[in-house]
Amino acid sequence: MNIASPQVGIVSLGCAKALVDSERILTRLRAEGYEIASTYQGADLVIVNTCGFLDSARAESLEAIGEALAENGRVIVTGCLGGDVATIRALHPAVLAVSGPQQYQAVVEAVHQALPPPHGPWESLVPPGGLHLTPPHYAYLKIAEGCNNRCSFCIIPDLRGPLVSRPIADVLGEAERLAEAGVRELLVIAQDTGAYGADLGHAAQSWRGRERQADLIGLAEALGELGIWIRLHYVYPYPQIERLMPLMAQGTILPYLDIPFQHASPRVLKAMRRPADQERVLERLANWRREVPDLAIRSTFIVGFPGETEEDFEGLLQWLEAAQLDRVGCFKYENVQGAGANALPDHVPEEVKEERHQRFTEAARQIADRRAAAKVGQVVMTLIDEVDEEGAIGRSTADSPEVDGAVFLEGETHLSPGDLVAVEIDAAEDYDLWGHPVGPPQ
Ligand code: SF4
Repeated sequence: MNIASPQVGIVSLGCAKALVDSERILTRLRAEGYEIASTYQGADLVIVNTCGFLDSARAESLEAIGEALAENGRVIVTGCLGGDVATIRALHPAVLAVSGPQQYQAVVEAVHQALPPPHGPWESLVPPGGLHLTPPHYAYLKIAEGCNNRCSFCIIPDLRGPLVSRPIADVLGEAERLAEAGVRELLVIAQDTGAYGADLGHAAQSWRGRERQADLIGLAEALGELGIWIRLHYVYPYPQIERLMPLMAQGTILPYLDIPFQHASPRVLKAMRRPADQERVLERLANWRREVPDLAIRSTFIVGFPGETEEDFEGLLQWLEAAQLDRVGCFKYENVQGAGANALPDHVPEEVKEERHQRFTEAARQIADRRAAAKVGQVVMTLIDEVDEEGAIGRSTADSPEVDGAVFLEGETHLSPGDLVAVEIDAAEDYDLWGHPVGPPQ
């Protein structure tokens, strides 16, 4: 390693989509000969990739910029909060440059200005799969930017613009490189994964000698050919989800669906400007489970949305009981600067939001606990994430990294991250499972 290489640090805040932006910036800088520093002190400058979604995320981002300035002094700001240059400059006038989400070129140019690239980096310093902030055995695959929906609590379409999908051959090429570099699980993400390709007229492109349609089904079919785990996130509840079921039933993609339902009351969904036919959704869930018995469904919900009555909330709890979702995230409604929902009447008092959040989380936990208990005695394929002196920790097909549960294999210290193991489940609690291997690692 060239010890004179300029060192860049990065603080990456926000969602998986922001993490992918950070990875792209780092991959580009690394290709130009920059080194990535892991401490403030070791860095010549620090990039802060911010989140600007909820007011609390904005506050956290502003605090992170302050910390990077105090610890290092040379700071470049990018990401969702970067769209609000005035606020950042007012609070932190010493930042070197500010750019918005996906403005990779602007970030790289700001780095060049503040810290010129080393002379003549002719050899590629980047591994074939690009640089990743995730462990080497899984990676996020971002298939599109932006969103054409207009949910009233969300400003992402304003921040990131309308849907812009990557051409399918581009996405599949990246996926193939990642698989060749040793990635065993791809997490497919976008703001609205189900809409993939709509802006491209679903234009087909050739990959591995065959035409591939640029829609979620064509993409899932092609990704399945890589022979690694393919997990779909952020699928808006469109009717075409039905067409994913045969792919899950035959093992082409994981039997896992992350659909942000957000609520169940038709009144609240209408105010959110989301599809509002939750009775029909229950029927569809039952059909999907008939077709794919081991399907795990993850969802997120917002409680305390403006105008949500006790009756709406009770209806949501009943719907949740009927839907028996496997994994559930719950957020208390918060105003987001610039979102339409801020102006809605009848905002719910904080203490009521808190109380509903607790009741919802407890109901979801009890459902997850029952569904996990039903797995005792079953054999589940598990991808190992970590190994320490006590044993190995992995995830089943029903668990996405960071947000879902884990499978604990006590004493199995011989395993390695990235191993796939058949595990018989001995015990379960809430979202987590405990078990032992019943075959050699693959
Ligand atoms: S679908 Fe998602 S990203 Fe698009 S407007 Fe709704 S919440 Fe925002």
